[in-house]
Amino acid sequence: PYIKAMEVVERPKTRYSDVGGLKDQLREVREVVELPLKHPELFKELGVEPLKGVLLYGPPGCGKTLIARAVAGEVGATFIRVVGSELINKFIGEGARIVRDVFNLARKKAPSIVFIDEIDAIAAKRIEMGTSGEREVQRTLMQLLAELDGFDPLSGVAVIAATNRLDILDPAILRPGRFDRIVYIPPPDKKGRLEILQIHTRKMKLAPDVNLEKIAEMTEGATGADIKAIVTEAGYNAIRAGRRMVTMEDFEKAIEKVLSKRIGATYRVS
Ligand code: ATP
Repeated sequence: PYIKAMEVVERPKTRYSDVGGLKDQLREVREVVELPLKHPELFKELGVEPLKGVLLYGPPGCGKTLIARAVAGEVGATFIRVVGSELINKFIGEGARIVRDVFNLARKKAPSIVFIDEIDAIAAKRIEMGTSGEREVQRTLMQLLAELDGFDPLSGVAVIAATNRLDILDPAILRPGRFDRIVYIPPPDKKGRLEILQIHTRKMKLAPDVNLEKIAEMTEGATGADIKAIVTEAGYNAIRAGRRMVTMEDFEKAIEKVLSKRIGATYRVS
C-alpha cells in the first residue's frame, strides 16, 4: 500500500559521466560506497571496519541525488530513494515502518544504495517534543538510527543521505558508525557549468554560433538544475521559431527567462 513511499530503480542508467564538475566530491563518495559494495572481502581479510554512510549537503539542484543515482548505476546496484519530508507529511504515522521496509528491501535487493533525501525533515535538532507530529518525527528518526546501527556495511547495502541544512541536523546522526563522511556539494563554478552544459546538450543539434564557454560565463550563480532548465528552454525557443537547430539567441533568451525567476537574482543578458 505504501509502495509509493519509496522510489526503487534497479540498476539506474545514470553514470559518472552524467555528473558535471564535482570530481573531488565524487571521489570521496566512491571511496566510501563503492569499495565495500564491490570488495567486501578486502575489508574482511584486513579486518578493516568500513565506513557506514555518506551525508551530502549543499544548496538544492546541484547534484546530490544525481551523484547517488550515478554511484548506483556504476556499481549496478538497486537505487532506493525516500524523501524525509514525505515520511513525515505524506505518509503520516507510517514513517518508522517505511524506514524499516526500506532497509529490508535494500537487503533483499542487494547490492543496493539507500538514498535518504531531505534527511533534515526527520533528523533535525529538536527543541521540544510536545505535539504528536514531533513524536512521529522522533519515532521515524529512532527507527533510522536503529537501522544504521544495526546494518552490516559488508552486506551489500550502502546509505547516502542528503540535506540543504547541515546546521540543523541532530548530532546523533553524525556520530561515528552512522554518517561517517560528510561531503559538501557546492554550486558549480564556471568549469562545472560548462561540463553540465556539455552533458545536457549532448543530444542537441546546436547552431555553429552556440558558444558553451560563453554561456557558462553568463550563468554565474546558476545551479545544475538551472542549467538543465536553460537547455530545455533554449530547445523550446528553437522549436517555437520553427528552426532545426538551437541558436545562441535561443540560449540567451532562455538564460534570461530561467535565471530572472530566481529570487533575488539580478541576471540580465546584455
Ligand atoms: P535537491 O536538494 O533539490 O534534491 P540535488 O542537489 O539533489 O537537489 P539533483 O536532483 O541532483 O539536485 O539535480 C537536479 C537535476 O539538475 C539533475 O537531475 C540534473 O539533471 C541537473 N544537475 C544538477 N547538478 C548537476 C551536475 N553537477 N551535473 C549534471 N547535471 C546536474
